[in-house]
Amino acid sequence: MQYDNDNIFAKILRKEIPSECVYEDDHTYAFMDIMPRADGHLLVIPKGPVRNILDASPEQLAQCMETVQKLGKAVMQAFDADGVTLQQFNEAAGGQEVFHLHFHVLPRHEGIKTRPPGVMGDMAKIKAQADKIRAVLQS
Ligand code: AMP
Repeated sequence: MQYDNDNIFAKILRKEIPSECVYEDDHTYAFMDIMPRADGHLLVIPKGPVRNILDASPEQLAQCMETVQKLGKAVMQAFDADGVTLQQFNEAAGGQEVFHLHFHVLPRHEGIKTRPPGVMGDMAKIKAQADKIRAVLQS
């Protein structure tokens, strides 16, 4: 399967469409999911053209996981969470809808289920949640 340069996350990386960035480094980019399944739901992606884990190099996976761990710890603190759920899908049959490798990071609280997929979030709330995450990362 080939990488599609026009997938939505490639456009986000090229700044052709907006995103609510919470963190970036030389290799990875983290931004808020616009259809959040939990408050603070964010996505971590590699900056390189990677479709999913099936074509990622070990280095790219390691770089993503380093950022996933950093952001996992940050959302634990920012939302006083009890845990963190990671999700990652590969190819359509595996549940992947956007064909640029991404890891979902969802802060979780005891007894609170995730919300259904596909529901647009309130951008003002998402921006406020991003502010909390950025504040933790800067502290
Ligand atoms: P999946 O490939 O199944 O992991 O689903 C793609 C995820 O990307 C979903 O959680 C969407 O809400 C999210 N998503 C799609 N477009 C955007 C966007 N422009 N900005 C942020 N998140 C997005």
